[in-house]
Amino acid sequence: MTAQESSSIATLPVMAEAALQAYPSATLYVVATPIGNVTDISLRALHVLTLVNAVACEDTRNTAHLMTRFGLNKPLIAAHQHNEREVAEVLIARLLAGERIALVSDAGTPAVSDPGARIVDAVRAAGLRVLPLPGASAAVTALSASGLVNDQFYFVGFLPAKAKQRDNMLQSLRTVSATMVFYEAPHRILDCAVALEAAFGPARQVVFARELTKMFEEIHRCPLSEAAAWIGADPHREKGEFVVLLEGATAAQDAEEAEAERILAILLGECSVKQAASLAAQITGRKKNALYERALQMKDEAA
Ligand code: SAM
Repeated sequence: MTAQESSSIATLPVMAEAALQAYPSATLYVVATPIGNVTDISLRALHVLTLVNAVACEDTRNTAHLMTRFGLNKPLIAAHQHNEREVAEVLIARLLAGERIALVSDAGTPAVSDPGARIVDAVRAAGLRVLPLPGASAAVTALSASGLVNDQFYFVGFLPAKAKQRDNMLQSLRTVSATMVFYEAPHRILDCAVALEAAFGPARQVVFARELTKMFEEIHRCPLSEAAAWIGADPHREKGEFVVLLEGATAAQDAEEAEAERILAILLGECSVKQAASLAAQITGRKKNALYERALQMKDEAA
């Protein structure tokens, strides 16, 4: 883009249009903020942030920084997961007095794996207006660039941190046919890839959407059998923010999975976890490590 083209963006009529719209008072504005690239914010959201009396936010330092990037300065009210109910009372009193208040989280859409839902619930219950300002969400951003063709998606969000609970949850998702969407912390991404393969088998497609909209953005798609190796191939891949998308179950994969489980279960009844995994790998052609992980889980489930 030339300098002339970029300066013409500032004079586009749509820029002025945001200012001409109705922004009712006594309203809570739920404002999505960027997930990385600071310019991923809507014109209407920016306009609301210039208008509001205060911004309720997950972390005042992060939001202060964001507001500075936008050239704005507003009173901030801390509204995090530990004080949502109490803050809701404060916000309701201010809204009843006719104020406009914005609710934001650290990044993306409030109440999506972020605080905000309890505040919205309380404000609505008080009969006050809640107006959403749509924008970035890591889940939808990843889905849009994944190339996974499926009309349905199932938002799982963060998996439990403890391995046993995580594996139980993954087992409960094995027959979901929609694309599954996970949020995962960087220090758990490798374990997550191994656990996904143990639970869903080697053939399902997985997409790692890392550092979306940021300088080192990567969107990688591969079968689960190659996932751990892809992460391990570059030390940077255990850093940054991740959305993990998993292809939903198909009837053929379901049948294959059931057969591998059946073989493993029979072998587990006859020999050690290690031997069962080794024999099952020879029979099914699958990776011994993933079968070993799954065999351990099966032993645990049976205990
Ligand atoms: N409310 C946010 C949304 O609408 O997407 C999600 C907040 S949640 C606390 C943070 C998680 O979202 C991260 O751990 C990561 O899984 C995902 N995430 C946020 N920003 C991301 C980015 N730029 N690239 C990849 N994943 C991201």
